[in-house]
Amino acid sequence: MRPLLSLLLAAVLCSADSIPAKDRILLLISLDGFGADVLADPHMPVPNLRRLASEGAVASRMTTSNPTVTWPNHTTMVTGVYAAEHGVLYNGLLVRGGPGKPVHVEPWRDKSELVRVPTIYDLAHQAGLTTAEVDWVAIQNAPTITWSFAERPDPKARIPRELVEAGVISAPDVAAFHKHPITWRDQIWTQAASYMIEKHRPNLLLFHLLNTDTVQHRYGPRTLAAASALSLADARVGDLLRALERAGILDRATIFVVADHGFKQVTHNIKPNALLRREGLLRAAGGEIHCDAYVVPEGGTAMVYVTAAGGKAPLLRKLKEIFGRLEAVAGIFEPKDYEAMGFPDPVRNGQMADLVLAAKAGYSFTAAHDGMRYSSPGATASGAARAWTAPATSISRPPSRGCSA
Ligand SMILES: [Zn+2]
Repeated sequence: MRPLLSLLLAAVLCSADSIPAKDRILLLISLDGFGADVLADPHMPVPNLRRLASEGAVASRMTTSNPTVTWPNHTTMVTGVYAAEHGVLYNGLLVRGGPGKPVHVEPWRDKSELVRVPTIYDLAHQAGLTTAEVDWVAIQNAPTITWSFAERPDPKARIPRELVEAGVISAPDVAAFHKHPITWRDQIWTQAASYMIEKHRPNLLLFHLLNTDTVQHRYGPRTLAAASALSLADARVGDLLRALERAGILDRATIFVVADHGFKQVTHNIKPNALLRREGLLRAAGGEIHCDAYVVPEGGTAMVYVTAAGGKAPLLRKLKEIFGRLEAVAGIFEPKDYEAMGFPDPVRNGQMADLVLAAKAGYSFTAAHDGMRYSSPGATASGAARAWTAPATSISRPPSRGCSA
């Protein structure tokens, strides 16, 4: 994803021969979980993406970064560096519960707490350009974003109020936004982005759709449901192209369509916390968990934390021994391995785990601590498919006038 940032920076910051940067727009569209294999299928109905591809350039795949989940990979896209440097390891901030308590992930934290390096929108803002985001991640309350319609929009914020005034959305629907179906939220996010394009003309707009991810988690990749969701996302891209046309700026727009990861089908979930419980390292009673170690799943990988007070070395030896016995675990990685994998040193980033587990093909991890070590996801279970290191999509369409940088 590093080359992607170079392209984005050149597109948003450089001066074209005849169009000043302030009169141009870079639209970065992320279709969550849109695997590169989808475009290779000639019978996938995505006419807008095909049109963009035929007018622009297509990469056969994007290389994902670790951990291969949504927020770390989106942050890599806008920073050009791995989690080792940008610091985002989860879809939120890892918070420690104290000695003997599990760790947990809190999503609604400010960008300043999550992202440790400058982003493309920071640089654009610094260069005097305007910036906007719709449903982007790890970006809450970023002071360098000019206009925002967030994943959970703030009813008091400027753009949500303008959209209520324009009749795009009602005030009660803004207030209860996150409770509504993801298909509807994708539509409103698209309308919000279209409104910003026509009304405010930001120089940089970061846009993210989620239904493609939700559907593939629930029904699995390469299903009719997944194809329908991917095709619907293509229609939303078409909506944005028409907004650029209506605004009269399509000829000065640079459009990138990208994805954060693809999907792989799994047949079983691994439950490392259930194993910890069987080994007496995790105890659950009265809705409370007390533990010497705790595992946070991230699809095909899992992050292992020693939570007991005192020296870690004997516990780490035991954890490696018990997870090493699981035939579905392909590898156990330690801090000495992290640099090569793009993970941070735990000394520099307190969110980083003591060990990382990798699953064999066909398996993913779950946080459940009850029952046996494994479970089979049902057809409609949320564990039917998990994000993993499948290649992601990348299409770019330059403006009709080239950029000279
Ligand atoms: Zn994602």
